[in-house]
Amino acid sequence: MSEVEMSRSMKKCNKCLQELDESEFSFHSASNYRRPECKKCNNKLGKERKALHKKYGPPPKDHTCPICLRTEGQVQGLGGKKLGPWTLDHDHITKDFRGWLCHPCNRGLGAYQDDVRKLERAKLYLRKKKWWQLWK
Ligand SMILES: [Zn+2]
Ligand SMILES: [Zn+2]
Repeated sequence: MSEVEMSRSMKKCNKCLQELDESEFSFHSASNYRRPECKKCNNKLGKERKALHKKYGPPPKDHTCPICLRTEGQVQGLGGKKLGPWTLDHDHITKDFRGWLCHPCNRGLGAYQDDVRKLERAKLYLRKKKWWQLWK
């Protein structure tokens, strides 16, 4: 196997940050994409989530997403047919429960690794762009 082929099948876990073979990553339940975290981390996360679910869930019927403010009816099905409208969000470092989010918002936070500095930059970036458009 050439070096290129070797590196192509490797993937970095976004939780433990280890470079692992792609086979160590399971697929998303609703799509063909491999999960960003390895099986071991996913397993660990699953257990953490389950315990928090028991303690804090399910959210009240009139729950709205704290980020996009959509209601249960508006976010139903957005995570795929198999999943409910809400996903439990928790701090991966302190393991504390944070809240119930809709799937798109939860994925959005995941894309920035829950990094407030990145989110702040994203906010400034978007604002700047709007300014730009105003002056066009
Ligand atoms: Zn991992
Ligand atoms: Zn949302």
